[in-house]
Amino acid sequence: MDGHLKLLNPKRIRVKSLCCSYCDLSYSREHYKALFEGRKLIYFKSLDTNIFREKEIICHDCLVNLADKESLCFKVETDTHILKLDISPPSGNEDDTDDFLNDLI
Ligand SMILES: [Zn+2]
Repeated sequence: MDGHLKLLNPKRIRVKSLCCSYCDLSYSREHYKALFEGRKLIYFKSLDTNIFREKEIICHDCLVNLADKESLCFKVETDTHILKLDISPPSGNEDDTDDFLNDLI
């Protein structure tokens, strides 16, 4: 099943802080901006209810962990375009998460 996500760009969000609904990871907008620009963290917001609840905030770690057993497919909206994101169960390559972030930021 496909999910529809919005990539939360720290430059565009209005909230003071963000918190992942799954792991409770929470950062202020300033912290998130630094981590985002360092390609360490991305928060997403769910735009539909296929996989998450609507408007739920998910960090990229939890997103990757969800694809632990089966591949997941997402449509991700960024500020400039929409891209398709396929996450496969880990293949034992620890660089997977980094590649994932580099593709998005
Ligand atoms: Zn999380």
